[in-house]
Amino acid sequence: MSHIFSPPLHRQRHEFVVDFVKKNKPRRVADLGCSECRLLQQLRFHREIELLVGLDINGAQMKKKMHGLGPLSTDYLQPTYDQLCVELYQGSVTQRDARLRGFDLVTSIELIEHLTLPDLEHFSAVVFGYMTPASVIISTPNSEFNVLLPGLSGFRHSDHKFEWNRAEFKSWALKVCFEYGYEVEFTGVGEAPPGQQDSVGFCSQIGVFYRLKVGDCCSALPHDDEENVFSYTLLYSVNYPSLHDNNTLRRVLVSEVLYWAEQLKNRWIQEKSGERNDDFTHCPTEDGGEMEGRKTACEDEMDSPVDCSGRGDEEEQGHVSVPLAVLWSCCPKVSELSGSLGNLRHLLLDEPEVNLNQNGSAILVKYQEQDQEEVNSDLEGSEDLASGQCFYRAEEEEDWETDV
Ligand code: SAM
Repeated sequence: MSHIFSPPLHRQRHEFVVDFVKKNKPRRVADLGCSECRLLQQLRFHREIELLVGLDINGAQMKKKMHGLGPLSTDYLQPTYDQLCVELYQGSVTQRDARLRGFDLVTSIELIEHLTLPDLEHFSAVVFGYMTPASVIISTPNSEFNVLLPGLSGFRHSDHKFEWNRAEFKSWALKVCFEYGYEVEFTGVGEAPPGQQDSVGFCSQIGVFYRLKVGDCCSALPHDDEENVFSYTLLYSVNYPSLHDNNTLRRVLVSEVLYWAEQLKNRWIQEKSGERNDDFTHCPTEDGGEMEGRKTACEDEMDSPVDCSGRGDEEEQGHVSVPLAVLWSCCPKVSELSGSLGNLRHLLLDEPEVNLNQNGSAILVKYQEQDQEEVNSDLEGSEDLASGQCFYRAEEEEDWETDV
């Protein structure tokens, strides 16, 4: 049936939810009757959401696609401070479970018509009376539209227990609002042909419910005595990598630090071999442009960023010493991730991949004579380095507009 709409009707329903999420930025979202998790697949990209939960009575259906809800490789390679946990539960919307209480948004897309009328009563009590989310989106077929669906006799699906016209949906929704302290707006997706919209309405009718503030209504009852009800089975749970997680932060910081330390070592080698001209530089500016001119304060500090310790301490022989202070003040991501120089030192202290000097003030980067040869041969094919480009990663310097 979807093919008579463009985009297909199921996509329009999901787009409706996505638009609501973009506008209202809920942090905790649950999709009831999530089926093969298609809506959840879209919602996980909206990183204002911190907890995304799917519930369905049919575990086998959920399991088909649930692993697609995990983080992508880019989420591991370039984690942000956003936090996201995705959980899937098998269970019935007619039963309570404390883990689904207090969400910002609960969606129920083409679910209620699969419930018997007694179960629909339980659904209302569970969703509006027990979960008490701040907002609820419910979509269900509008039976008045059925005359426009070619070849349809009876309900749109063999498992439907009812299909309501607009007045029936409205009457149920207003009763729920009255009993549980919500207000509702009616809309829909799947427009009728021109001239018929008023007479038949939308193909899928939608009610958007908002919980009234305490005091605006007296009917919503607290369920503090039932906080510990857990009737759903957890099928899947995944935490996306986040820089709020200490392990992820350390992993990213170490990789940045090692990258920049290596860059600074190469710079020192260039200086040593007299390949650099440091009087003028080309530095990307914050707004993406390029600044040409005399050295910046940061670069002044980097005049002698490293020190070859080949002649010093026994332990430091064969290494180039890169001061943490230089790394911290000249490498934006390192300073952003660590927050302070003291914190940077603290975070690197126990990292096996990072070789600090004895007093913990500098990183020791291995240096061999062949490094010099490698840098020299790289320089032959690299005008950028020879011209004293600032230390920004290669991918940040790509100019796709020109490339294509
Ligand atoms: N919401 C899905 C979407 O937008 O792609 C489609 C929903 S599908 C038409 C109806 C779903 O409701 C089915 O996956 C079914 O297993 C689920 N369902 C039916 N009765 C249920 C119940 N009592 N509790 C939870 N889920 C139920």
